[in-house]
Amino acid sequence: MIRIPLILDAFLDIIYPRIYCILCGERLEKKALHGICNHCLESLPFIHPPRCAWCSKPVEGENAICQECRLYGHDYDQAVAVFEYSITMRELIHRYKYGREYSLSRTLGYFMRETLDKTAWNVDLIIPVPLHENRLKSRGFNQAALLAEYLSQRTGIPCRQDILIRRVDTKTQTSLSRHERTENLKDAFAIAGSGQDRIKDKHILLVDDVHTTGATADSCSKVLRQAGADKVYVLTIAAVL
Ligand SMILES: [Zn+2]
Ligand SMILES: [Zn+2]
Repeated sequence: MIRIPLILDAFLDIIYPRIYCILCGERLEKKALHGICNHCLESLPFIHPPRCAWCSKPVEGENAICQECRLYGHDYDQAVAVFEYSITMRELIHRYKYGREYSLSRTLGYFMRETLDKTAWNVDLIIPVPLHENRLKSRGFNQAALLAEYLSQRTGIPCRQDILIRRVDTKTQTSLSRHERTENLKDAFAIAGSGQDRIKDKHILLVDDVHTTGATADSCSKVLRQAGADKVYVLTIAAVL
């Protein structure tokens, strides 16, 4: 787990403000903590209201629930994503996740924090979607955990990475159908030993990078609820629409 760079990273905004736009490379006109120039900022695929009140994907009309949520439902209380999973976002997340550009957690975390501030959620504890230890070894870091730590540092809400664990090294979900995703994740997550005491009656914020069908978030939420969590909210960088 990369703990020390994380702590250093909290100070990077101050001691090492960004100079160039992370998307187009143009020099930033003024101090932009997220590291994106005004021109690129305008082109980012923010998801605007009206959104589904359950999964946050765009819908017609305020306070509506989208068809997928009506059909399948969710184990979480509410999920919100900052961006649509467009080509730009896919590339950016890819750079962060596989290109090991850890500092992009500051950019992505910045927008997640902004989105979190707009919710009415009263969060007690932040928990990232865990990686299996095999995946953690090969990737070197958990992309969700770095974002969860960023949010924790900026909001003061505690983050715990040792409560929710991934006990099955599930195969990649990319090519799987909704049903296959749910099957693939069956029993994948569990609560570690004494974790139950820490989440009982708590409002949990689950953090992940991409919300596709919500199968991962649902699977985690189910386990957290069974262990006594009162509410489970989900915040992701992007949602596949
Ligand atoms: Zn730019
Ligand atoms: Zn929905």
